Amino acid sequence: MSIQVKNINKSFGDFVALDNVSLDFPTGELVALLGPSGCGKTTLLRIIAGLETSDSGQVLLDGDDASARHVRERQVGFVFQHYALFRHMTVFDNVAFGLRVKNKKERLSEPEIAKKVHELLNLVQLDWLHDRFPAQLSGGQRQRIALARALAVEPKVLLLDEPFGALDAKVRKELRRWLRKLHDELHITSIFVTHDQEEALEVADRVVLMNKGKVEQIGSPDEVYEKPATPFVYGFLGNVNLFHGRVDGDGIQVGEHNLQHSTSTNLASGTPVVAFARPHELDIVDYSTRHDGVAAKIDRILSFGVNSRIELSAIEGTNNDGLPQHFEVELSKAEVVNRNLSEGLTVRIVPSQLKV
Ligand code: ATP
Repeated sequence: MSIQVKNINKSFGDFVALDNVSLDFPTGELVALLGPSGCGKTTLLRIIAGLETSDSGQVLLDGDDASARHVRERQVGFVFQHYALFRHMTVFDNVAFGLRVKNKKERLSEPEIAKKVHELLNLVQLDWLHDRFPAQLSGGQRQRIALARALAVEPKVLLLDEPFGALDAKVRKELRRWLRKLHDELHITSIFVTHDQEEALEVADRVVLMNKGKVEQIGSPDEVYEKPATPFVYGFLGNVNLFHGRVDGDGIQVGEHNLQHSTSTNLASGTPVVAFARPHELDIVDYSTRHDGVAAKIDRILSFGVNSRIELSAIEGTNNDGLPQHFEVELSKAEVVNRNLSEGLTVRIVPSQLKV
């Protein structure tokens, strides 16, 4: 089922939670709603589900206005962060619940229900736990059971609100991969809310970035990471180095230096700009033999695995707040050793990729 959200506005008292949000989710897509806490992700999900009403705007399901449709008529399955399994019921009964409460006309016989529940438990690879109670499961297992329960009623849309939020990092990672695989098998239009960049970029077909009730950008994980549309997006999606300067021909003038960038802009020379590069898009070169790049002092070198993170402060130039500019560069540990980089050393930072 496709979902269209048109010009949705929602306020709680004076507080604007959603500000004219319009989005299009094609059938079968797995979409992440990503943004900081309080940006309106959950509110949007609840409006799509019919658990909350908007002040204005429309939700269309397969092209039809869903406003008048009750939650149960929207064919939507939910999974929330705090697994809402019934504690007094076994895994089997939790998954069977939705099938047993269906209206009388559609109700399945007990053997039919049992067959379906075992199919679903096999799908989430937990059939062997069918007679356990939720308290006897791990967090990750509970989430998979919650998903099996949501799938039992054959939803046309799956809405997942921070489905793995309460779990530890390792289990989260496993479940992310598992969700992606499951989605590839079932192709149910799915929207999941997360405030975790890595989770959104790793799992989703498309990412919707939200900030303060507005949509900042929609795109594939690659698009939003490599071509962030707004300063908010590039700041939110991982570490970023900012270069405050002015347009100068094909490059930008930062302090005394002209840095080349890889974006085509129509900006006139002299226009103030903030260019940016990810830590792996910066290189560190020798201070005395090179004369390009931004002069900086190495403050700290942190090594983990095969990589090193190098924190530096610019010797000349400041950011817009008048503070010394800080940079973060990612190099392999071997490069750090080969170039004799050490804390306190003065070097030059040269971007290999710089975007405006
Ligand atoms: P989080 O990641 O923290 O869950 P979110 O992006 O999902 O955040 P929402 O839960 O949609 O954010 O909330 C958006 C804003 O609306 C928040 O500032 C929240 O305090 C406010 N809000 C949400 N529901 C209500 C309500 N029922 N009454 C008043 N304010 C609300």
